[in-house]
Amino acid sequence: MIKKTSDFQTYLEDTSNLKGHAECLYLPESKEEVRFLIGECNRSKSPLTVSAGRTGTTAGCVPLSGALLSLQNLNKIINIDAGVKEARVEAGVLLEDLLKEAVKFNLTLRASPTEPLAYAGGAVSTAASGVRGFGYGSIRNYVRAIEIVLAGGDVLKIQRGKIFSLGRAFDFTCGGKRFKFNLPSYDMPPVKSQAGFFVKDNMDLIDLFIGSEGVLGIITECCLSLQTIAPYIIDGLVFFDCEEKALGFSGSVKSLKRDNLINPASLEFFDHNSLELLGPVYSFIPASAAAAIYFEQEAEDKSSSEQLMDTWAKLIENGGASLDTCIIADNPNARRSIFEFRHKVPQLINEFLRAYGQQKIASDIAVPPEHFAAMYESYKSTARETALRYVNFGHIGEGHLHFNFLPRSDQESVRAGEGIARLCRQAVAWGGTVCAEHGVGKVKKPYLKIMYGDKHIKEMAALKKYFDPNCILNLDNIFDKEFLL
Ligand SMILES: Cc1cc2nc3c(=O)[nH]c(=O)nc-3n(C[C@H](O)[C@H](O)[C@H](O)COP(=O)(O)OP(=O)(O)OC[C@H]3O[C@@H](n4cnc5c(N)ncnc54)[C@H](O)[C@@H]3O)c2cc1C
Repeated sequence: MIKKTSDFQTYLEDTSNLKGHAECLYLPESKEEVRFLIGECNRSKSPLTVSAGRTGTTAGCVPLSGALLSLQNLNKIINIDAGVKEARVEAGVLLEDLLKEAVKFNLTLRASPTEPLAYAGGAVSTAASGVRGFGYGSIRNYVRAIEIVLAGGDVLKIQRGKIFSLGRAFDFTCGGKRFKFNLPSYDMPPVKSQAGFFVKDNMDLIDLFIGSEGVLGIITECCLSLQTIAPYIIDGLVFFDCEEKALGFSGSVKSLKRDNLINPASLEFFDHNSLELLGPVYSFIPASAAAAIYFEQEAEDKSSSEQLMDTWAKLIENGGASLDTCIIADNPNARRSIFEFRHKVPQLINEFLRAYGQQKIASDIAVPPEHFAAMYESYKSTARETALRYVNFGHIGEGHLHFNFLPRSDQESVRAGEGIARLCRQAVAWGGTVCAEHGVGKVKKPYLKIMYGDKHIKEMAALKKYFDPNCILNLDNIFDKEFLL
């Protein structure tokens, strides 16, 4: 008998603040139970939504019908193999727990999302990236294998590098069954993107399921490659007296990244409003600060770390910031404090929205580097036109900021939504993406339409129907039900 509960209010939302509803919550304790449950739901054509750490920002795990399935009891770290540097984990393992265990082997998962309370399965299903996305990309690059249960009960065990499409056509046999289907025909933008399914010519099958937000199947296990922890890590927090200087500094760092000495894993931006939000919590923010940049860089040995410190110091001074107000950290405790400073921004935004009972209305746009300056201007002009409070921060290294409105009423929320749609149209016109890392879920569907249009969304829906003919898994994610008719 699969464990089931009717006490699950906290499972009906994530950090988007969209509230859902469900008939009950299933808490299976084994892969066999997951498979059995999916089979039952498929037979009765009952919707099933998968819930993981619920740290998502797009309501992907928020059910709007049927039952909920949490993988929290599939939380075993099956094995860490230090020799080949990989971890085999059940989908319900907290990334925080995986990182704690990996440290014992001097290993880490560099592409871990910023939020440690995400589950391995949640991170893989959203192809999450994090503050180290500039240096290491998304978790997609570190997934070596997955086990996925399809709606019909088939279990696919997919290893990277084994099954490829021919152009956009897949034809393979797995678990004794033949699979033959075509991929959607759109080209993905040349930027970090998590907008709909990952597709390209001659692609690896595993990449189709990574980032598919649970609409194609449920991941029960994954094998992730781990990396040796760098012997020296330097984190810096640099304050500037105007945003232009911070933008110029990040531009210089990005242009130097190619020379290999300045080669940060993280390059993050905080606008004036972010610092104002953080002000009551962090008294060390200088009164004159109007923007800040956070960076993290690894070094192989002490002498190169000292050389790096000197080089960063010169860059900072040339960028117009004062070394006196900079915070440079080279020990774990000090580095953790800077990281927490970075993490505090989305946390405070979420607290603000909860206090006003509003949903998250934010952009997740990335544009090619040549359009970043103009995109930044668009954020500012949109903010002026809507006359709403906002915060703009995030992954400037990847041309990817999170422009968050802070609406205090439903009326303001409508205006904010219109502002974000306008920004999305602009980003698409410049060859960018509307969802660089948080996925589409339920709240970003209108923006995905702007990016790909009905034709390509229908192609994605057709692929879902191939794997999930009764349309039971993670309904309402990525595309509306009308596309599944
Ligand atoms: C403060 C904060 C900072 C964040 N920073 C970042 C960041 O820097 N980068 C980033 O990418 N994200 C970030 N996020 C977003 C979030 O942490 C990631 O999207 C994360 O990967 C979601 O994992 P989760 O376990 O919480 O998944 P959930 O939110 O529970 O679910 C996410 C989606 O995955 C599906 N899903 C979950 N598990 C499975 C499974 N086993 N099989 C199939 N589908 C599944 C769910 O149905 C849902 O659609 C941040 C969030 C917060 C709150």
